[in-house]
Amino acid sequence: MMDRTIGVRLRALPIMVLLTMSATAAAAASQVPPEVHQTATACRSASAVDGSCLVHAQRYDNEWLTYGRTYNQQRFSPLRQINAQNVNNLGLAWYYDIGGDHRVQESTPLVVGDVMYVTAAWSRVIALNATTGKVLWTFDPHVPRESGAHGCCGPANRGVAVWRGRVFVGTYDGRLIALSAATGRMIWSVRTASWRNDYTITGAPLVVKGRVIIGNGGGEFANRGYVTAYDARTGKEDWRFYTVPGKPGVRDGQPSDGVLNRIARPTWHGQYWKVGGGGTVWDGLSYDPRLDLLYVGTDNGSPWNGEVRSQGRGANLFITSILALRPETGQYVWHFQEVPGDVWDYSATQQMILANLRIGGRDRRVLMQAPKDGLFVIVDRATGKFISAKPFTDINWALGINPRTGRPKENPQAFYDIRKRRWLAIPGPGGAHNWQPMSYDPRTGLVYLPVMDAAFTYAAAKHFVRRSVGWNTGDHFIPLPENPAAIHAIEKHLTGYLVAWNPRTQRQAWAAQIGTPWNGGVVSTAGNLVFQGDSMGRFAAFRATDGKRLWTVATHTGIVAPPITYAVDGQQYVAVETGWGGAFALAAGKLARDTQINQGNVPHLLVFKLGGHVAMPVPPPRPARWPLPPKLTADSGTVAQGRAHYQQFCSACHGDSAVSGGVLPDLRHVAALGVPALWQRIVRGGALRSGGMVSFASDLTAAQAESIRDYVIYRANETLRQAELPTSPPQPARRH
Ligand code: CA
Repeated sequence: MMDRTIGVRLRALPIMVLLTMSATAAAAASQVPPEVHQTATACRSASAVDGSCLVHAQRYDNEWLTYGRTYNQQRFSPLRQINAQNVNNLGLAWYYDIGGDHRVQESTPLVVGDVMYVTAAWSRVIALNATTGKVLWTFDPHVPRESGAHGCCGPANRGVAVWRGRVFVGTYDGRLIALSAATGRMIWSVRTASWRNDYTITGAPLVVKGRVIIGNGGGEFANRGYVTAYDARTGKEDWRFYTVPGKPGVRDGQPSDGVLNRIARPTWHGQYWKVGGGGTVWDGLSYDPRLDLLYVGTDNGSPWNGEVRSQGRGANLFITSILALRPETGQYVWHFQEVPGDVWDYSATQQMILANLRIGGRDRRVLMQAPKDGLFVIVDRATGKFISAKPFTDINWALGINPRTGRPKENPQAFYDIRKRRWLAIPGPGGAHNWQPMSYDPRTGLVYLPVMDAAFTYAAAKHFVRRSVGWNTGDHFIPLPENPAAIHAIEKHLTGYLVAWNPRTQRQAWAAQIGTPWNGGVVSTAGNLVFQGDSMGRFAAFRATDGKRLWTVATHTGIVAPPITYAVDGQQYVAVETGWGGAFALAAGKLARDTQINQGNVPHLLVFKLGGHVAMPVPPPRPARWPLPPKLTADSGTVAQGRAHYQQFCSACHGDSAVSGGVLPDLRHVAALGVPALWQRIVRGGALRSGGMVSFASDLTAAQAESIRDYVIYRANETLRQAELPTSPPQPARRH
């Protein structure tokens, strides 16, 4: 029904559009300021975007046609109407209320002509008029909320791909869907992964040579990674490349079979196939049309604990690697592994920027990546040959790098898994740089990079038991209050910077202190500007040449999404989503809570222009006080048991040591804490399944669930004494 209504409206649209466009085109011809480029018009509607438009996306100055704007993922815009001289006049042009359940928003909007295609949490897609914000259509794939607990980091979606009148989206529960760009109607849908097996999709698809390329995530759940290509017209599966070997003697019948047997399998030991192996492809995809190479970044080893995974031995190819594949066949061409046998969740899934650089007197076709491990890596993208790597922030897991091969020399103490000793690592699993996109400005020759400094203590679990719900890392998450060494290190190492990195010299050009660790992605422009939002609800413009903060606006909600810029009818716009969340926000507990604005996390899409004067949406005030917690009646042994279960099953979403980072409910304040029967109905009965809180009945007994309640009551009282919580006086007892 929804489709029909929209269809009618859109059928009426072309005449209006023609009238408006001819009038505006005439006006634009005389009034357009010279700094807004008049570019080719061939690719200015979704139906006109073909393979050639995507290959030449850099020619379409006004548009943002594909995830990283161009296949080389540079996220640089040649627009300069908004520039370092006038950015102070930037104001809100329009906004869109994303609504939903206030989860993380990570989308890169695409803009084709005057239409914007943007996504929201739970894989919703919204098409809007890019100048007015008028909604053209919306698509909700109705992702089962239970799938939330089967992914690591919240139901994020990073965006769509557009090709020949179609919009492609990967859904959190594992579908790849093609929609009509005109109406939002579904054209085809295929299941490429299943949340029931702990695979989820958060990344944007990439269309290459008429194929939709899509990966998936699940590296924290003991999974085997793969990337798949589908025919963009029909949705028929074309090829699949598994990134790690499966059971010996069993062929997948895929192009990965040969290379996995020949090169990868000898680097694995024990019964690795039983625990997945890892190497999931949850984000980075780039393409070089001249070399005809598709670049795929792979995630950590799964489980993290290398002893559980592969007897603590071997490089475990192709985890934490960059793979170059032929897009038409999935045929392997080369690989470069960044962290052999990775046991720290230092994935190489991060964005890969392709550029041509003059290094040491030679013109090099490079691929650049700033992965979680903290080393800025440059390889020759034709051959995969190592060029250079340098730490872009403090790291302690590697003591050096082999200058010929690029293989890191690991700190022997960092192997917490085989040494059976805790290891305080810098960076931790959140990474020195995570998925938040960076940007390369060919004008300044600098890469603008959101850097995070955070420490983390890794410890092996005593026994690995594969759980049916929740993370399966083979690690034990030590509660922060019991870890003074980590607290001390974190006090020195919990911050974030916007860093300008010179890849030719592998040196920092400048760094702007942001002050909090988990911030937004960036875009750079020919207006000598870099835009970035942060966790404290500030959206800012920095001068690209020296990092001076030129403009800041309060958005009242934290930002992790990357901004984009585009132009329609001679007017340049900057767009960004607000809505905080992701791995650090969920799991880091007090550290996350204390480094975000914490005003309700109400998400919006904000669009700015020079002279914009729309008032910024302000979220309603949060409750100022919380109810007093119930009295603790359990003994210390029960609380200790509850703590272990909490850290294993609950902390990844509700925060370390029962302190929420501010995205999901803080269990110290929920009504069920004082009502044992209700607690059981939720934790084991699945009463809040429709909100994403699944049943843990298959992994927790009633007594264990009750011990978690005791632990949370203990923490609520403990933190109350530490004056962490403003509380309201006790309410009269109610009968239940
Ligand atoms: Ca991971």
